[in-house]
Amino acid sequence: MSDEYVIETRALSRRFGNLVAVDEVDLTVRGGEVFGFLGPNGAGKSTLIRMLVGLLRPSSGEARVLGRTLPREAERLRSAVGYMTQSFSLYQDLTVEENLEFAAEIFGLDGAARRERVAELLAEYELGEQCRQRPATLSGGLKQRLALAVATVHRPSLLVLDEPTAGVDPDRRRDFWEKIFELAADGTTVLVSTHYMDEAVRCHRVAMLIRGRPVAIGEPADLVQALVGRIIEVDAERVERAIPTLRALPYVRSVTQLGSRAHVLIDREARPAAELSAEFDDTLRAAGVEGTASRPAEPTLEDVFVALGLGESLAEGAQ
Ligand code: ADP
Repeated sequence: MSDEYVIETRALSRRFGNLVAVDEVDLTVRGGEVFGFLGPNGAGKSTLIRMLVGLLRPSSGEARVLGRTLPREAERLRSAVGYMTQSFSLYQDLTVEENLEFAAEIFGLDGAARRERVAELLAEYELGEQCRQRPATLSGGLKQRLALAVATVHRPSLLVLDEPTAGVDPDRRRDFWEKIFELAADGTTVLVSTHYMDEAVRCHRVAMLIRGRPVAIGEPADLVQALVGRIIEVDAERVERAIPTLRALPYVRSVTQLGSRAHVLIDREARPAAELSAEFDDTLRAAGVEGTASRPAEPTLEDVFVALGLGESLAEGAQ
């Protein structure tokens, strides 16, 4: 393995008893990338992340992160990585400021350097007003900001975020992502797991995980591009009435309802979506479903998941 990548894994696996949580994953992440793990609950995202930050021993395979070989150099790696989990790892009996001071102390900052860094973080993350409050009294968005400030106290060159925005409202999620991109612009490599589609599209590259395996890795736009010409969007007032008819068509792979529309994935072997759209309307009319309008549509990352047979499992988290 070389040091060309910030993260490199070969056949990295983790088993819990008979369960294979991470299954022979090969992955490379370059410096400065915002790299996303996207997948339903139980896909193995956290397990993979915990191995990559040196908290969990792999069952087999190789991993090199920031030039450190795992698990041998896990200890040294841990002090170089910023790691934030969904539970935020904040100390509830410490104030905002004390949480930052404590984190700074753990990472070896003393005296003036510590005070300076804490003041800097309070300003950067706009937590000055709340500095004497305890985490439990903060809103979800502020708590999340504090957790990110804690994770970046030692200016890590690799920041690993495990579902950092789960349960946070969309406006706060947007703010959070702006911060992530600021850090990436300053050269930080960011590895982030999510089950929100709108977050995955913002990553430079994503790995879609299912049952411990990356089933697709690439730039979101490229993954979507692979489906061009294969999605037909059907608009209807009562679209649920059209769905059984659409599903029964021989060249239809799957139908996903998105509000009052349906996204229909057609087989690779079928004629292009542009040709089939008019036929859809005729077929639906013949089946007694009136007022539908079908047209070829731009595929979304959600369509990629559906095409991979993963649509159902993602539905609850998708936006
Ligand atoms: P995700 O983060 O994608 O939701 P996880 O990595 O948490 O997925 O879990 C992957 C699989 O491994 C799940 O089936 C989960 O139940 C199992 N798993 C995770 N941690 C443990 C553990 N400590 N002991 C046993 N099974 C575990």
